[in-house]
Amino acid sequence: MTAERDQTELLDQTPAGISRASTILRSGGLVAIPTETVYGLAGDARNPAAVKAIFAAKGRPAHNPLIVHVAHMDTATALARLDDTARTLAHHFWPGALTLVAPLRDGHGLAPAVTAGLDTVALRLPAHPAARALLAEFGRPVAAPSANPSGQISPTTAAHVMAGLSGRIAAVLDGGACPVGVESTIIGTDDTGRAVVLRAGGISPEMMAGVLGYLPAPAQSATITAPGQMASHYAPRASVRLNAAKRTGHEVWIGFGPDCTGADFTLSENGDLAQAASQLFAILHKADALGRPIAVAPVPEHDLGLAINDRLRRAAAPRDT
Ligand code: AMP
Ligand code: MG
Repeated sequence: MTAERDQTELLDQTPAGISRASTILRSGGLVAIPTETVYGLAGDARNPAAVKAIFAAKGRPAHNPLIVHVAHMDTATALARLDDTARTLAHHFWPGALTLVAPLRDGHGLAPAVTAGLDTVALRLPAHPAARALLAEFGRPVAAPSANPSGQISPTTAAHVMAGLSGRIAAVLDGGACPVGVESTIIGTDDTGRAVVLRAGGISPEMMAGVLGYLPAPAQSATITAPGQMASHYAPRASVRLNAAKRTGHEVWIGFGPDCTGADFTLSENGDLAQAASQLFAILHKADALGRPIAVAPVPEHDLGLAINDRLRRAAAPRDT
C-alpha cells in the first residue's frame, strides 16, 4: 500500500465534500460522518466487505451489531416491521437521537454481519444536515457505529475521529462539534408492546413519556435482545472515579453544577444536563490527555443524566486489557 492510500481525507460539509463522501461509500470505503449524537463510522450496510471493514477499523467484536442509518421513514419500514409503539416514537423523534430495534423483513438485503446474525435490526434516522445530505445522495442504508476504536471514548469532533482512526479509514466529513454529544437512545419493545430502553441516550425517558403515556423503563437483563452492551466502554486510558465531591491527590477533577469551584473542567456550571451531555466526551478526551487519574462529580440520575451516568459508569468499569 502506498503512503498516499494510508492517508485519511478530511472533507468539509459542502456539496463537493458530501459528493466525495458518497463516492467513497459507493466504492465500499469508510467515511466518518457527523451526526447530532457523536461521529459515526459509515459504510454501505448492503456491502459485506464494507461492513467487515467497519469492524476491522474499530477492532469491534463481531457479536456487537451496528446501527443502520436511513434518510427516509420508507426505507426504515422496508427493512423492518415497526410496531405501533415504534411508529409513534419515530413520528415524534425522527429525525433525531433515537434508535429503534425491530424485526427484520425478508429480503432486507443488509449484510448479515450488520445485525451480528440477529433477526432484528437497530434503525435510526439522524437529524444532522450533513448526515442527511449524505444519506440522501448515497441513497442506500448506511451502517455506522461510533467512529472510535472499540471501547474507547466516543468522538464528538472531526479531530477526535482523526486522533483515533487516522490512516485506517478513507475520510472524515467535518460537520463541527456534535450538539447532543451522547449516543442515541436505543428502544426495543417487550412482549406486551411497551417500549423498553436498551441503552440510555440523547432522548430521555421523560421526553418519551410525553408521547407514550408512560415512562419507558430500562430493559431487564433477561429481555435484552442483543449482545454488546459491554460493561467497560468509553474508557479513557486513565482510571475514573465517580461521585467525587472533591479532588483527591493529583486527580483531574471534572465538576458538575455550581459547587465545583476549583474543578479542572466543568460539564455544566449551572447544572444543565443537556449542556453536560454535549460536553461529556470532549472533556473526557481533554482530561485523559493530562495523563492523571480522573474523578467526576455526581450527576443527577434523571433526564439526560441517565445517559451521562451510563457512559461514566462504563468509563469507570474494570477493563479487560
Ligand atoms: P454504537 O454503534 O457503538 O453506538 O453501538 C450500537 C449499539 O446498538 C450496541 O450497543 C448494540 O448492542 C446495539 N444494537 C445494534 N443492533 C441491535 C439489535 N438488533 N438489537 C439490540 N441492540 C442492538
Ligand atoms: Mg460506540
